[in-house]
Amino acid sequence: MTIPSYRRILLKLSGEALMGDGQYGIDPATVTRMAGEVKAAKDTGLEICLVIGGGNIFRGMAGAAKGMDRAQADYMGMLATVMNALAMQSALEQLGVPTRVQSAIEMDKVCEPVIRRRAQRHLEKGRVVIFAAGVGAPYFTTDSGAALRAAEMKCDALLKGTSVDGVYNADPKLDPNAVRYDTLTYDRVLQDNLKVMDASAVALCRDNSIPIVVFSIREQGNLARVLSGEGTATTVYQKD
Ligand code: UDP
Repeated sequence: MTIPSYRRILLKLSGEALMGDGQYGIDPATVTRMAGEVKAAKDTGLEICLVIGGGNIFRGMAGAAKGMDRAQADYMGMLATVMNALAMQSALEQLGVPTRVQSAIEMDKVCEPVIRRRAQRHLEKGRVVIFAAGVGAPYFTTDSGAALRAAEMKCDALLKGTSVDGVYNADPKLDPNAVRYDTLTYDRVLQDNLKVMDASAVALCRDNSIPIVVFSIREQGNLARVLSGEGTATTVYQKD
């Protein structure tokens, strides 16, 4: 499948993408490198929405596994995504990229609430909009937040930057014979339980015909390469 020219995309990064070589938290040099990837993509004329996870700081499931109340732990996870969003905002603005953070949990001292029409305007003015706090409710993840924002902001595609260059039939880090898919349908992803995004996020993309492009964010310049149709990626979409 050749990648069509997108006008507006949503980029989803997991919190781990900000950790660098560390095991936890935010590595400023890595955030700056990620911001550089976003800037390079934006410089091609794209409108960019960003969603960043919080797994580098706190995951609700991990808290629940240690005995915490799940919903309470999930709210902590959502707050972690706001910290990551603020770190990315700072890094992008240091590179001269104008941004706004909109959080699904209102905190008006640090960012805007999610207001679709306002976000629309920011994008039209060339600002990157970083959506924080997922969907704003526990029992969800930022994958679902990414799919939701991609749908409401009418993004042409959801790009998911990961540590591998696409979707494989087995874990390529464990199985040397693992094969990468170039394309997949949403239904195949759901039926085979392939690790692309949460099922709810995949279903939301399917129902709104938003292609999901899975690629490696670890290689420098890869986001822009993938957007120009040159890089390696797996595209999930509905084949006619
Ligand atoms: N979270 C939530 N609702 C949302 C988005 C996130 O409860 O809509 C919580 C959840 O606990 C999750 C954590 O925030 O584990 C961090 O998000 P996620 O696990 O999606 O981060 P990633 O794996 O992408 O770094």
